[in-house]
Amino acid sequence: MSTDANPFESLQEQIDDAAAFLDADDGVLERLKHPERVLELTLTVEMDDGSLERFPAFRSQFNGDRGPYKGGIRYHPGVTRDEVKALSGWMVYKCALVDVPYGGGKGGIVIDPAEYSAAELERITRSFAAELRPIIGEDLDIPAPDVNTGQREMNWIKDTYETLENTTAPGVVTGKAPSSGGSLGRVRAAGRSVMLTAREAFDRLHDGVEGATVAVQGYGNAGYVAASLLEAEGAEVVAVSDSSGAVHDTGGLDTEAVKSHKRETGSVAGAPGTEPWTNEDLLTADVDLLVPAALENAVDGPLAREMEAGMVVEAANGPLTPAADDVLAERGVPVFPDILANAGGVTVSYFEWVQNRQRFSWTRERVNEELERVITDAFDGLIAAHEANDLPNFRTAAYVVAIRRVLDAYREGGEWP
Ligand code: NAD
Repeated sequence: MSTDANPFESLQEQIDDAAAFLDADDGVLERLKHPERVLELTLTVEMDDGSLERFPAFRSQFNGDRGPYKGGIRYHPGVTRDEVKALSGWMVYKCALVDVPYGGGKGGIVIDPAEYSAAELERITRSFAAELRPIIGEDLDIPAPDVNTGQREMNWIKDTYETLENTTAPGVVTGKAPSSGGSLGRVRAAGRSVMLTAREAFDRLHDGVEGATVAVQGYGNAGYVAASLLEAEGAEVVAVSDSSGAVHDTGGLDTEAVKSHKRETGSVAGAPGTEPWTNEDLLTADVDLLVPAALENAVDGPLAREMEAGMVVEAANGPLTPAADDVLAERGVPVFPDILANAGGVTVSYFEWVQNRQRFSWTRERVNEELERVITDAFDGLIAAHEANDLPNFRTAAYVVAIRRVLDAYREGGEWP
């Protein structure tokens, strides 16, 4: 990452930027900048060789005014308390922007999962789930996958919770495998909302996304799906990257061929028909659209000055620092924010939870249709707020819409002595 900006401070700055356009007193706004509760743990888990290892872990419950806390669990060596707090706050405003009835939460374990066996990861996950059990639940706090976690980890969390509670409660986590109560369409949902956001943005600001050139930083779940769906819409994906480096092909990459290469070799580097690039080459490429889909702080102020992309649609959470945002706003480069563009993940998580509560599964077509409606409605709401309030950029417009909804729910709750 190109900067050490603290993501929690970035979140607070984004809220401050929107606050200038909101009618709310400072005390109420300050409340929206801090988590309600953060659980900090040390998990002590037995390894395959019989030794014990300790792992710091966190769960932040940022705000529950609009419904149960909701948000993923990340396994990464770089997880910190402040990162988890920031990610939980972004979830609050993401859920509010797309108007799903949740608050925001997030969790993480400080771990590089590549260094552990499946059996060790299962014991680590079950240990975390057992510690979380008193504070999670279908109506309380609902974890989901994030970086380096997926269906397998969610199935373990569900099983641990249900066993300890002596019940069935599939809606206690989302992002499960379909055979364990997961929703069709969930795995591709974040990438799909990135494509939908880009499609709507190009329709509004240009003549559509067909023929637009695209660079994608981070070829994981969100990045790969966004790239392949944009390619299906007629865009040309000319560069992609992962933590091992970047590849490009000015004539347009075959996103499926690059994915197969990554599946076989573990990285995009050396994919057939591509030329090597650095991640910085990719981030500063002269393309119509840049999709940062890796981690926070991928672009800071100085890098934003070097960027030549015509538009940014954020697949990752927090990929631009506030300084980068300022530079791009000054340069007139539109940025469509994470809390809209990757909200497909939590939206289909919500659909999964609804299906779990009803014990009734939807078809993939229904999931994708409902997702498209939610994302395009949210996009239109963001544009309307941007125009009506003459706001400086689309991120601030997104926060104005989202914070208003959280404030309404808080005020309507009334006084509690
Ligand atoms: P992932 O682990 O599947 O993919 C991340 C990718 O980024 C990997 O290919 C990794 O190699 C790459 N990467 C890491 N560091 C990099 C660097 N410095 N330069 C280039 N590439 C780098 O994770 P994901 O689920 O795709 O999540 C990516 C981002 O999207 C995260 O910010 C996550 O919070 C966000 N997100 C994901 C979902 C979802 O449902 N998957 C939903 C909402 C938000």
